[in-house]
Amino acid sequence: MQKDDVYDVIIVGAAAAGLTAAIYTARQGMSTLVIGKDVGGQALLTNDIQNYPGYDNIDGFTLTSKFEKQAKSFNAEIIYDEVQKIHGEDGNFKVETPSKQFRSQIIILAFGKTPRDLGVPGEDRFKGRGLSYCATCDGPLYRGKTVAIVGSAEYAVDAAVMLSDIAEKVYQISNRDRIVGDGDMLTNLESRKNVVFVSNSNVSEIMGDQTVESIKVLNVKSGSEEEYNVDGIFVELGYVAMTDFVKDLVNLNERKDVIVDKECRTSRKGVFAAGDVTDMPFKQLVISAGQGSTAALSAYNYLQRLKGKSIIRGDWKSKKSK
Ligand SMILES: Cc1cc2nc3c(=O)[nH]c(=O)nc-3n(C[C@H](O)[C@H](O)[C@H](O)COP(=O)(O)OP(=O)(O)OC[C@H]3O[C@@H](n4cnc5c(N)ncnc54)[C@H](O)[C@@H]3O)c2cc1C
Repeated sequence: MQKDDVYDVIIVGAAAAGLTAAIYTARQGMSTLVIGKDVGGQALLTNDIQNYPGYDNIDGFTLTSKFEKQAKSFNAEIIYDEVQKIHGEDGNFKVETPSKQFRSQIIILAFGKTPRDLGVPGEDRFKGRGLSYCATCDGPLYRGKTVAIVGSAEYAVDAAVMLSDIAEKVYQISNRDRIVGDGDMLTNLESRKNVVFVSNSNVSEIMGDQTVESIKVLNVKSGSEEEYNVDGIFVELGYVAMTDFVKDLVNLNERKDVIVDKECRTSRKGVFAAGDVTDMPFKQLVISAGQGSTAALSAYNYLQRLKGKSIIRGDWKSKKSK
């Protein structure tokens, strides 16, 4: 039987929280594996970050690539994969991806949030083929075309304003009877002649051959269903923590966020969490990075205790800086 790869710490998620945690754990000399479905996470969806300290303006790809480079410079190992299961106890965890399993003494959960799905037929098939969860990223591909946006809250309003400058026609589909959001943005949206608001409605199916060609829209009040010809559909329903695979490992709150204390400890010994996946109220890059470092320092202290060492030191005395 193949032996599992063994690390001091496995970090699930390779974005602001996970990569910052890796910088800290690897710099402390802990063997560190980061497993991420992508490198960069939600930050990859924006070209315009104006509130990350040290940069007037930076795009998310460049910022998180710097995090990645820095983590690797301290010998953190980063692989692309999806963690599907974590089990084990205090100091002895097993992490499973579809193709491999790994072992570690410590786990840091930093797998953030994921765009909320529509959950309708055709969704999986057309992801990346006319179906997008990021108007900022993929909107420019639809110049002069007809698109639908699903949602009516702030994300969707921003997307509709942006897409109405690019596309010929924009359907904004919502199960509510009105759009909600920031006053100026709403006034701006209402002035757009090429935006059609389809109220009290849900998309019930996405159809096409190779790419999206049309959608079925169900009016939840009248029960009638209509087909709209569109070249693209943007799902802007906000973000959710996909924590089902850790629900038996750590305590979650009513929104399924991982509950942490101020040292980023979860309910399970040896499992820490950081960033958007936690129950921290604000979701920002600098907060995820800060929590990543907190989780890593807590993890380091925990490892020292596992080894029976009483001296707990902070980051400033890392191996590299001695
Ligand atoms: C369009 C947009 C614009 C934004 N603009 C700003 C801004 O200007 N300033 C700001 O501070 N914040 C901004 N944010 C918020 C910011 O991007 C997030 O707060 C931040 O990215 C959270 O980082 P994170 O590491 O906690 O999680 P995420 O960025 O969500 O990253 C989670 C990582 O975990 C991976 N993952 C998920 N599940 C698994 C799994 N099972 N196995 C392995 N890997 C997994 C994901 O692929 C991803 O790599 C914006 C967000 C969006 C969507």
